[in-house]
Formats: sequence, C-alpha cells, structure tokens
Amino acid sequence: MSVAARVGRRQLLARWCHRLGALPLLKHVRPGARGEVRVLAYHRVLESADPEGFSFDPELISASAEGFQAQMRHLKAHFVPMRFDEVLDHLQRGIPLPEGAALVTFDDGYDDNYRIAFPILRDLGMSAMFFVSTGHIDSGRPYAYDWLVHMLCSAPTGERLQVPALDIDWEIEELLPERRRQAADLLYRVKLLDDDDQAALVARLENDWGISRAAGHPDCRPMTWDQLREMQRAGMEIGSHGVDHRMLAKLSQARMVDEVRDSKRALERELGVPARVISYPVGGPDAFNHDTVEAVRAAGFDLACSYVAGVGHPGPRTQFSLPRLPVERHMDMPWFQAMMAMPELFTYASRLRTG
Ligand SMILES: [Zn+2]
Repeated sequence: MSVAARVGRRQLLARWCHRLGALPLLKHVRPGARGEVRVLAYHRVLESADPEGFSFDPELISASAEGFQAQMRHLKAHFVPMRFDEVLDHLQRGIPLPEGAALVTFDDGYDDNYRIAFPILRDLGMSAMFFVSTGHIDSGRPYAYDWLVHMLCSAPTGERLQVPALDIDWEIEELLPERRRQAADLLYRVKLLDDDDQAALVARLENDWGISRAAGHPDCRPMTWDQLREMQRAGMEIGSHGVDHRMLAKLSQARMVDEVRDSKRALERELGVPARVISYPVGGPDAFNHDTVEAVRAAGFDLACSYVAGVGHPGPRTQFSLPRLPVERHMDMPWFQAMMAMPELFTYASRLRTG
C-alpha cells in the first residue's frame, strides 16, 4: 500500500470517529493504560505547514504554529504533560506514572523550535524536551539529509544525479513537487548506505552542483547555545541527538561511543546540568542496536527514545528504546486527537519517516 493510501485511511477513520463523538469513549475502553507514557515526536514547527518554494525536506515539518498550539492545548486539557526529569524521578522511586502521562519531544535542533514552538509552550506553561545534535549547535551547519533535499530541489535544471551504488541515474525534474518526490526517494535510499558513503555523496553533490553547506540557509538553521540556555531557564529540557546526526548503528564502535559521549559532554559543558536523555538520530529500528544501547548506558544516560512508533512503558527493559508517536504535518486535529486516544490504531507508521 502506498504512503498516501495509508495516511488517507487513518485520517478518514479518525474523522469518522471524531464526527461520531467516539474519541472520548475510545480513550476509556483502551486497555493497558497504567504505567504508560505517550511521547510525542516533533521535528519542525513553521508558520505554515506548506511554505511556498520551500527547498528543504517538507516531511520534517511536523505542524504549523497554529496546529501545534491546538495540539498542545488538547494535551494540556485532556492528558498529564510531564517533564522527563519527573518521569525519571517516578521510575527511580517506583511510583507509577499518572494515567494519561505525556511527554513532548523535538529532534535535531532547528531554530524554529526556539522561534515558534518555544513561545507557544511557554505561554501555555508547558515544557518539552529538545534533542539536539551538538556539533550542529556548535558550528551552525545545516543537517546533511536536509541539505541533500535542498541540493536536489535547487540544482540547475538539466543536471543528472548518478549514484551507481543506489541504482540511481536520474535526470533532475523541472518542477519543485517532482523534485521533492525524487528527493524523498533519494533520502530513503541514502540511508541504506554505510556512514562514510553517505557523507561522501553529500560532499560530492555539494561540489558538483556548487551548493555549499558551509554557506548555510535561513530555512535550515540550527539553534544556538544561547537560545538553548534561554529555553532551559524557562523550563524546557535539552537532551542529546548525537554530535553529527549520524546513524549510530552504522558507525564503528569507537566512533559510535564518541558520538554518544561527546554529545553528553558538550551539553553539560554548555548548559551546566546533567544530560540524562538521548534520542537516536534517524531512530527507526535499524538506527540503534545492542552496542548502541550499551554505549548510551555506559555514558551515563538514564533514558533513550527511538523513532519506532508506539506507546512507551518505561521500565528496566525498555528504558533505552522508548517508542514515540510521530506528529506529521498531514495530521489534522481529529487525527491528532484519535492518535492520543487510541495510539495503537492511529499512530503514523514510523517506518515511513525517520528522526
Ligand atoms: Zn534527527
């Protein structure tokens, strides 16, 4: 089944349940509510969920400002939003989580998190966890996968994209919507390459097409340490998303350990508090493995989030692979409410997206 068909089916079912007034009922008949936590996963919140001429990955836009505000209001009214340090405190003391416990998380560290999401959260008196790739905060450099999309969307017309290892020999399409489709296909295939080959491909295209990542772009800026410090002072939590946003399971043991340990050190050096939580970059089921979990535990993290879709039941066996509920820009309020009420039925399939 195509991505569009899967999205359409969930959305239609959600609207139907919403119209029938069935959502509050679903929330109460659903089993297994005790000890669980819904962890929402966002990337970017922009003024519009479909900005005109946007040359970066539109699938990283989780919601518009208006949509995000409505989602947070719903969360505050119908669930129990918590901070990670509160959840960890409950776990350490053996106190069950309250029914309806929920956490809000952001991956990567885009500056719209500071400009748009943070004021909304602050005005509602809510907190969220921002998982940032510390190397990008240090350097201000755009994220590699997003830059790949940007390069494909802005390459000169008539260029060819040739990547024999991925069976790609394409003429770059003329119009933006078609280029976005090519970019999504490219992104999916690139993640099959090993880490060095991924980095080499990005570098080659930067050079071939003259679109240097070092130049940056206003639509793809990481936050700064000063912004993160301000957010922390206002009650937000900051966690690790590695140093360079690498797929940890694809790295050598030594480099993987460096990514985990060095990101923790950078956060603690810049923010002055222990960094206790990490989310695995590109966190689908193949983004981390047993060695990754051991490295995260050894570095001193207390909890880790994956990008596998599902409801979390944090405990000794699951503490380093907590599933989340991805929020996507196609999600309208009936769908969001349905996902919160009945996550197993209405969550976005995480295999379609990665963190
Ligand atoms: Zn990420």
